[in-house]
Amino acid sequence: MFAKILIANRGEIACRVAASARRMGIKTVAVYSEADAHAKHVAVCDEAVLIGAAPAKESYLCANKIIEVAKATGAQAIHPGYGFLSENAEFAQACTEAGLVFIGPPASAIRAMGSKSAAKTLMEKAMVPLVPGYHGDNQDPAFLQSEADKIGYPVLLKASAGGGGKGMRIVDKSADFKAALASCQREAVNSFGDDRVLIEKYLTQPRHIEIQVFADTQGNAVYLFERDCSVQRRHQKVVEEAPAPGMPPARRQAMGDAAVAAAQAVGYVGAGTVEFIANQDGSFYFMEMNTRLQVEHPVTEMITGLDLVEWQLRVAYGEVLPKLQAELDMRGHAIEVRIYAENPEKGFLPSIGTLRHLRTPSATEFSTVAMPSSHAGEGSNEGDGIVRIDSGIRRGDAIAPYYDPMIAKLIVWGKTREQALLRMSRALSEYQVVGVATNVAFLQRLIKSAPFAAAQLDTGLIERHHAELFPPQATLSLPVLALATVSILHAEQQVAASDPWAASSGWRMNSHLQRRFNFSDAQSDNGNASDVLVTYRREGWLLHYGDSAALVSIDTQSDDDWIIKIGSATIKGTVVRDEESIHVFADDRHAVLHYKDPLAHANAAEADAGRLTAPMPGKIIAVLVKQGAIVAKGTPLLIMEAMKMEHTIAAPTDGTVEQLLYAVGDQVAEGAQLLSLKSR
Ligand code: ADP
Ligand code: ADP
Ligand code: MG
Repeated sequence: MFAKILIANRGEIACRVAASARRMGIKTVAVYSEADAHAKHVAVCDEAVLIGAAPAKESYLCANKIIEVAKATGAQAIHPGYGFLSENAEFAQACTEAGLVFIGPPASAIRAMGSKSAAKTLMEKAMVPLVPGYHGDNQDPAFLQSEADKIGYPVLLKASAGGGGKGMRIVDKSADFKAALASCQREAVNSFGDDRVLIEKYLTQPRHIEIQVFADTQGNAVYLFERDCSVQRRHQKVVEEAPAPGMPPARRQAMGDAAVAAAQAVGYVGAGTVEFIANQDGSFYFMEMNTRLQVEHPVTEMITGLDLVEWQLRVAYGEVLPKLQAELDMRGHAIEVRIYAENPEKGFLPSIGTLRHLRTPSATEFSTVAMPSSHAGEGSNEGDGIVRIDSGIRRGDAIAPYYDPMIAKLIVWGKTREQALLRMSRALSEYQVVGVATNVAFLQRLIKSAPFAAAQLDTGLIERHHAELFPPQATLSLPVLALATVSILHAEQQVAASDPWAASSGWRMNSHLQRRFNFSDAQSDNGNASDVLVTYRREGWLLHYGDSAALVSIDTQSDDDWIIKIGSATIKGTVVRDEESIHVFADDRHAVLHYKDPLAHANAAEADAGRLTAPMPGKIIAVLVKQGAIVAKGTPLLIMEAMKMEHTIAAPTDGTVEQLLYAVGDQVAEGAQLLSLKSR
């Protein structure tokens, strides 16, 4: 086996590969960009080499530099992970020419599958079923339109060189074709430097079902069953599971055979995924082949108990496949969700920032040998192979704007789909993140939604059930408000106990005084405000909220974790203060409350007016004033770019620019203070 490999990637997949290598006794070399000097993938590898600046083009995409590092460190092989250089045939070839093993298929196989059009021509010859469409060389717009008319609308335009859903356009009628073609070509050139397109019949309510294949250098090829990745947003996967619900064994075999035929047609070696689009009646068509390890490979590992990275390493070293088709078996059901730093309520806008608080459900990291058949009973050791987390992000790490904002993949296994769903729901409810917005609550609603629970899967599920998946924000509940209130009161008591002079108001001493807490719900558009009235009592605090009143007291508290009594009920929760926000994880919810301390010095409101913050994450593209400038209300101060639009930040009052906190080119997180203005 290799003694040392280089991992040409970052984040969770670099950590994932390193975990298997370590288990196999293989030394690992990480490469990293300036933005990743303190990243987890650097920490988990045996050696790490800086290869350039943060943008991927200057680091993770520098093929030559990476090959040089491999040679200099004595690595014998390079694992490309997914994304970046993983499907780059030139890189695979350059590795080979440098005397290094590329842990993936031969360059020729990557090339053959690199163009969706050319791949379809090959698949046609291999008798793999294709979606009706046109994938030829003639790119004349009038000709393409006549082909689309022949196929019948709706049709789907795809960039031949495409990936990641880029360039795809659905065309509903002939009259829309010309404009859609132009826009598809424009995006194709921008993203892939190639404007060639193909046309497919657009299937309505299809399922995305893909087959994991593996081949070795000795001519053996197998399929490791299927994954259902139908739950998507903008043609990108959100939830993946294995096996595909409702898959009859005969069709599994037919799809598996077709996938193996596809791989063999291009002389495939290593791990690959053949993606099919399937009608609800089960008929299926080849879409594309991804010539790498897939993001969602863990669900396959969970149901087969196999380590696919170990298989990749063995095959790359020249060994035969560890198992042949008849020896492969699957058990139970696995589901994966991708936890992203993004804001579902704001159109899934990526959210950048530092994860100040991160708590995950009890889980095994990269637990590939997961199939609990080897365990006495799968419930015996909660988390051991049942809940798996693949992540390259730790508490205190930042989600940077340069790379994919994925925080983690959360994968669960169950004997049945129903059990897996329950475990997923529980695991999601235990996943706590403060510092960036996440899709955790959205994922929770999604997996609990009626159509998903009933496995009524198709690629339009999220869009069709939008109303159910985005219900109006619930008002803040008493448990949430009580936890927030108690945490503030407790913190004040701690300060007062350590420094009697700091107890400025002394209101606690007087049991007849009431204190009003005004919380607003940071997650609701209109900032739903809630007033909580507190009266001090010897046994605790009497909280009045709306028409109800309850005596609240602290049962136990350690760090951020609280157990409080509300009347006779016991409530458990986690409370994290993040500047002006109070994050409460309780009552099956992550609530974010804004709290303005009425006792804080009176200038607070005034000072706040001078605090100009970024409305969304973005980049500063112009600073229009100098420090010390005297400006009138409405004067443009700086311009930022976010979501491909420019936003001008103007002075809210007449004032003096006290401090500029960012310069042109800087990335800013949502809510970051941009400058301070002293009002006149
Ligand atoms: P998969 O097909 O394995 O499920 P996806 O369809 O989610 O993966 O994404 C397609 C590919 O694009 C993956 O290899 C993914 O890692 C890659 N990708 C997506 N976003 C980025 C990014 N910001 N940087 C690098 N690679 C990315
Ligand atoms: P990418 O390279 O971006 O992964 P794919 O060809 O794999 O592109 O397609 C991505 C997704 O787009 C599929 O998973 C599916 O949801 C949708 N899609 C692709 N082709 C069709 C089609 N012919 N009809 C309906 N949906 C399709
Ligand atoms: Mg695809």
